[in-house]
Amino acid sequence: MRDLKKKFKDLKQNILDYNPQADIGQIEKAWNFAVLAHTEQKRLSGEPFVSHPLEVALRLAKWKLDTTSIIVGLLHDTVEDGGAKREDIVEGFGEDVAALVDGVTKVTDLRLKGSREREFIENLRKMLLVMAKDLRVILVKLADRLHNMETLFALAPEKRKINAIETLEIYAPLAERLGMGEVKGQLEDLAFPYVYPSQYKKLLRRSKPFYKEAEGHINKMKKVLLKKLLEENLNAEIHARKKHLFSLWKKLERSEVGWDFGKVHDIVAIRIIAGTVAQCYSALGIVHGNYKPVPYIGVSDFIAQPKPNGYRSIHTKVFGPEGRIVEVQIRTFLMHKEAEEGIAAHWVYSDAKGKGASDAILEKGDVFAPSEKLSWVRQLVDWQKEMTDSDEFLKAVKFDALRHRNFVFSPLGDVYDLPADSTPVDFAYAVHTDLGRFITGAKVDGKIVPLDYKLKSGQVVEILKSKNPRTPNPHWADFVVTTLARREINRYLRKTGPTE
Ligand code: MN
Repeated sequence: MRDLKKKFKDLKQNILDYNPQADIGQIEKAWNFAVLAHTEQKRLSGEPFVSHPLEVALRLAKWKLDTTSIIVGLLHDTVEDGGAKREDIVEGFGEDVAALVDGVTKVTDLRLKGSREREFIENLRKMLLVMAKDLRVILVKLADRLHNMETLFALAPEKRKINAIETLEIYAPLAERLGMGEVKGQLEDLAFPYVYPSQYKKLLRRSKPFYKEAEGHINKMKKVLLKKLLEENLNAEIHARKKHLFSLWKKLERSEVGWDFGKVHDIVAIRIIAGTVAQCYSALGIVHGNYKPVPYIGVSDFIAQPKPNGYRSIHTKVFGPEGRIVEVQIRTFLMHKEAEEGIAAHWVYSDAKGKGASDAILEKGDVFAPSEKLSWVRQLVDWQKEMTDSDEFLKAVKFDALRHRNFVFSPLGDVYDLPADSTPVDFAYAVHTDLGRFITGAKVDGKIVPLDYKLKSGQVVEILKSKNPRTPNPHWADFVVTTLARREINRYLRKTGPTE
């Protein structure tokens, strides 16, 4: 218990550091409530059970969340696993906290596809509904999952694997969709050895010398660049960022890479973090002044053109020491925080301010409103109301929300976020459902492509339009992958009849 008391003290200090007005009295009350509710309970690892909600709260504090989130983190297992009743929570902490704890509990029973598919779908529905109501539920859930994955060794072997698969299939993609890149990477790396043990070992063995070599190059570059930045009076930090193992493995497994480490340029990347956007562009100039950019695959400016999940940075690939290609990522401190913490970076941490990001940040116009980021959740919730068929719903969720996404551009530079294997027809419907009725052809990066062409991230897609609206081609339904496109095509065909 002494360890835990010290940890709880740290928690309070961490919270006060970013939120001096936090209601520490309520947080202490929640802690005492959890200690009581979990009296005598132990985790499978042998630790007192209450160490778990405390670890969850510590992660939430790291994301600088509001007092309510921290309280929910401390209380999240008191009813489900502990000796508390819902009424006790209502009485002590109010209906809002009790509703959030309910939400976290409902998500807990999420089951994988299989014999209990129906249950899985029902839980997924519930989760999405809860998420659309209050995103804090999912943030608590992600913190919960992170700690559970870190202590997964304590579970029986079959359970380990089931939990790890669930993490890869559901929680890591969710974190990604919320822009929480660091959490996504951590979850995947924690699950990796349990789901693909032999691949994990192989990767560890084979990647070691490459990580080492890359780190050597990067340290050299770091010294050079720090000096040059200083000469220009540019106060910036430079870090080396190691690629997460699971994402390295996925890259190596791609057919065009085929385990050729020479084709992976970002195994270790350089990250330059500067004070302002203008300094980012100055830093880019300094990088290119010292290391030549690689032609054609050079610069991606996600500051001027952010990814739809809000990600902002400048990426450039340059020839580093010994002619090795090195990726350099340049961003401001705020962008860095957003990229690591995603939606959590925008959450209220000052309780006085009510909902939304802090005023100072909002005034700078520097944030993507969380509501915008969550439009896909709302869309799914709308669909699930319409869809009476559970299988159709499951398909929509798995294929639209949780699959890998591609980012493509309209000729005007608007960015669209589409699932993998999307075609120009999917793109047209994503731009506007009406545009689907005018498709005569499509150009990708200026070249005519067939309508079933599979789009890749970064491409510019232009839809060639007819003068007058047409009936969608029934064959399109065979290759479109987005639910939106399929539904629109089918709806139209149903209306006009199959003979037309
Ligand atoms: Mn838990």
